[in-house]
Amino acid sequence: MTSIEQTAPTANNFLKSIIDEDLKSGKHSSIVTRFPPEPNGYLHIGHAKSICINFGLARDFGGRCHLRFDDTNPAKEELEYIESIKESVHWLGFDWGEHLYYASDNFEQLYLWAVYLIEQGKAYVEDLSGDEIRAYRGTLTEPGKDSPYRSRPVEENLDLFSRMRAGEFPDGSRVLRAKIDMASPNISLRDPVLYRIIHAPHPHVGDAWKIYPMYDFAHGQTDAIEGITHSICTLEFESHKPLYEWFLDNLPVPSRPRQYEFARLNLTFTVMSKRKLQELVQLGIVSGWDDPRMPTLAGIKRRGYTPAAVRAFCDQIGVGRSDSWIDVSCLEECVRTDLNESAPRAMAVLRPIKLVIDNYPADRTEELPAANHPQKPEMGNRTIYFTREIWIDADDFMEVPSKGFHRLTVGGEVKLRFGYIVKCTGVVRDEQGTIQELHGEYDPASREGIHTADGRKVKGVIHWVSATHAVSAEVRLFDRLFSDPNPDRGAADYKQFLNPGSIETLSDCKLEADLSRSNIETRYQFERMGYFRQDPKDSLPDTLVFNRIVTLRDAWTNKK
Ligand code: ATP
Ligand code: MG
Repeated sequence: MTSIEQTAPTANNFLKSIIDEDLKSGKHSSIVTRFPPEPNGYLHIGHAKSICINFGLARDFGGRCHLRFDDTNPAKEELEYIESIKESVHWLGFDWGEHLYYASDNFEQLYLWAVYLIEQGKAYVEDLSGDEIRAYRGTLTEPGKDSPYRSRPVEENLDLFSRMRAGEFPDGSRVLRAKIDMASPNISLRDPVLYRIIHAPHPHVGDAWKIYPMYDFAHGQTDAIEGITHSICTLEFESHKPLYEWFLDNLPVPSRPRQYEFARLNLTFTVMSKRKLQELVQLGIVSGWDDPRMPTLAGIKRRGYTPAAVRAFCDQIGVGRSDSWIDVSCLEECVRTDLNESAPRAMAVLRPIKLVIDNYPADRTEELPAANHPQKPEMGNRTIYFTREIWIDADDFMEVPSKGFHRLTVGGEVKLRFGYIVKCTGVVRDEQGTIQELHGEYDPASREGIHTADGRKVKGVIHWVSATHAVSAEVRLFDRLFSDPNPDRGAADYKQFLNPGSIETLSDCKLEADLSRSNIETRYQFERMGYFRQDPKDSLPDTLVFNRIVTLRDAWTNKK
């Protein structure tokens, strides 16, 4: 692993200068980019970087960005993925308008271009097996060898290729290859495969085809058909660029796109390969692609991250050409920054213990005003209720206080947020000795401020809710799915780095009554506990389920 960026580097985007130059010099009068996912899984946070780059550049330079499904491999592609990808791009706040395309819409044109290459003596039907092709290909230090089928006559190639299309041959028995240079130092130019036989229906074009183009044979030509000016991809495609250009040079394409590469996003504590994400789903390690712990956009959305926070993160990390790692805490910090501004505050007791205030009348309820945001009076107040019985968090009580513990202890005093100062006078236990409830007394003169009537100052302030008015909820506390900064390294099985504490489910939490009527979309700061929102799938009006979106502070960076 190279260095990890603890704080986001200053935003920088080298592509902007290139586009600026191209517009100034008149090379292009406007720009066209595309985001080209293969519909073989759900999008993840790495894709968000690519989406923000492609749609962001089009927005900033007044051009347009296409959404294109790079759907050349029917074996792995599904309609479910197509729909989820569209939803995620929209969720991030981008729109392709009428420019939704499928590489497969060009299959007929690509076929004709393959025939054209055969006619030009630049492609041939190969009968060697996959293993033999690999053996003939050579290595980085040794040139490859020509296949015995390389010199097949054009007529024979045309006949065999049309019979491949007609479905006459089984999968894997033949391929079509470009005839370029078996000795090229660039291995992708050693007669790359253009078409393979796959007898499988396709999610977009049905069972029209028995042969499918390879990604390399489809991508650049599709860019050219769509009039893409800047074809932006990740660095691993750099070595394919000469091949991308060879196709554009050797085919009568309608325009001349240019490929630019940028460094992909690597995030600590995360795996991003779709194959691994799919495995987590299939093995039941997570509840689905949209499990709130997943780095998928569907998971992030369900967890309650805001699209604005994800966009801010993508802006912060910038766009460069050298591989680097971003600490996942940068993403979490963007979520906190956004929610700190916008989230109304509320009180929620996650591990409730009852406190009975013996000197408060049983039939009394006081309505107390509570600010929705401490720095934003314009967000108004809500009413909270004070009653004889309240819930406080078990973590806010210690019978025998440890040093520095300033919350409730037997004989000690604490301020109830927006309410009174209370003193704990005793503890009631069951036969096993487990604490059943606490008893206490309140100081009627202490509602404003943190001083008692006679001027004693109280150090701790805790949250609480009225036991008479509270609503119950399940609360899911999420933590990072992996406990190692780089679970995806080399040979080790990434699953050994799963964080066993990545989810904690608390089943009987007590919340302010208003939360049961709240909009399912509203994200709250539960005071002292973090940011929370209802789970959009599992929360119902009478069985509330809240997800913790992010903690108030980063507990990980300090842990190490
Ligand atoms: P995987 O390798 O995980 O299966 P992929 O990269 O092959 O995913 P695609 O559907 O081909 O997935 O990706 C669509 C676009 O998103 C491509 O242009 C790809 O370069 C870009 N992309 C994928 N992962 C990242 C990443 N981590 N950072 C930035 N861009 C990415
Ligand atoms: Mg890919």
